[in-house]
Amino acid sequence: MFRLSYKIFGALLLTVLLSVGLTSFAANQLTASQFRQYIIRGNTEFITGVESTLSMYYTQYQSWDNVSTILVQLLGSNGGRLLLSDAGGLIVADTQNKWVGHLTDEYNLSDGNTINVSGTLAGYFYWLGSESSASGSGYGKGMHSSQNNTGNSAITIITEPQQQLLDEMNRSVWISGILAGLAALGLGLLLTNQIIRPINALNRSARQVAGGKFSQRVRVESRDELGELAESFNHMAKSLETNEQSRQRLLADIAHELRTPLTVIEGTVDGILDGVFEADTRHLTTIKEESATLTRLIKDLRDISLAESGKLKLEIAQVDIAEIIRRQASQISILAKDKSVSLVTDIPENSSVISGDATRLNQITANLLSNALRHTSAGGQITLSLKNMLYKDKSGVMVSVADNGEGIPPADLPHIFDRFYRVATSRARSEGGSGLGLAIVKEMTEAHGGYVWAESLLGKGSTFNYWLPR
Ligand code: ADP
Repeated sequence: MFRLSYKIFGALLLTVLLSVGLTSFAANQLTASQFRQYIIRGNTEFITGVESTLSMYYTQYQSWDNVSTILVQLLGSNGGRLLLSDAGGLIVADTQNKWVGHLTDEYNLSDGNTINVSGTLAGYFYWLGSESSASGSGYGKGMHSSQNNTGNSAITIITEPQQQLLDEMNRSVWISGILAGLAALGLGLLLTNQIIRPINALNRSARQVAGGKFSQRVRVESRDELGELAESFNHMAKSLETNEQSRQRLLADIAHELRTPLTVIEGTVDGILDGVFEADTRHLTTIKEESATLTRLIKDLRDISLAESGKLKLEIAQVDIAEIIRRQASQISILAKDKSVSLVTDIPENSSVISGDATRLNQITANLLSNALRHTSAGGQITLSLKNMLYKDKSGVMVSVADNGEGIPPADLPHIFDRFYRVATSRARSEGGSGLGLAIVKEMTEAHGGYVWAESLLGKGSTFNYWLPR
């Protein structure tokens, strides 16, 4: 398996090689062609100049006598060699003074540049290179490419210094290309490392989290996609950490809640077996009540776990919520009377139909009413009301359970809907529940698409409201 760093670097290397190679090649071709054009223009001008000077010379002297000096001057700093023959092909001047007196045919010279004077052919001149100075043209083959006898066509002679200059330029292009390529690769290595480093850090941290170390976080080093990925990773790790903590807390809470009734049952049974207690109604009732607490706890746990995992099946039907809370009021009124707590109801006479699960709606109301009764002392009052209410522009019904009991301390109020949360000053366990009642109310109302909230003043009482959509 190729590592990502190799892949990125490989892609970069390929791109750099291709772009630098192509650019250098194109630059070389262009330079060579431009240079050739430039040389051709210069050579053509040179040929034309030689031709006109020689024809002026001949016009003036009507012979080629003493033309050698002029020929040498004409050649000047141009490379190669100039030869001049008369109209009959006899070489009359040579800048290298070697072939004078010989015929051009002897040296395979052909297609010389003609020199015409007043319409008459006065001679030919040849511009030759030496073997070392001509590029692409061999000795004796003509340093020009005169295609006709006017001697005026393009000449492609590149002299040695010119060729050296061209080579030098080409080399410079390649060297610049290679240097630019190396710089790009160096930069690429640096960038690859910058990209790969946070990915590697993320990878290491992900392994740590997978191994159960949920406190692991990565440093967010940039604001780009990798930075966002690091932030998402940290969020994920945080939520896993919170979940793990709450799972551990839940297990501890459950163990604690189960232990208390079991200890009572075990102690009572032991007492009966050891003959310390009578197996009478009182002790058997204790065992039965604690068993009932366990059963209720297990049922509550099941409800809450189903609701939290979204698997709570609601038997939705058209139900009359007014009828439900009227029934709950009448049920709690007996217990309220026993405790000398008055129950006031404010429920409209007519029916109020909503879509909901009657059993769960009964459960929600019963939980709130039993809490209110538990936290209201004798002489207190509980008010149960139902009214229509818009919530976030949606029509629905609001049920309120208000009491003038002990109230909830402001510090506890935001947590009372949490699982197993119990207000510290709450009465003894025998009076209270497991701290699951309100958590169940919250899950059930939300499963119905509703909301629940509480208001309370310590020492004055509490009001629990839940709203359900129609
Ligand atoms: P529990 O089953 O233990 O009552 P709940 O989830 O129903 O647990 O309630 C959580 C906490 O909220 C309780 O410990 C209790 O102190 C507090 N509480 C609930 N209802 C009231 C109320 N009407 N008045 C005062 N405190 C309340």
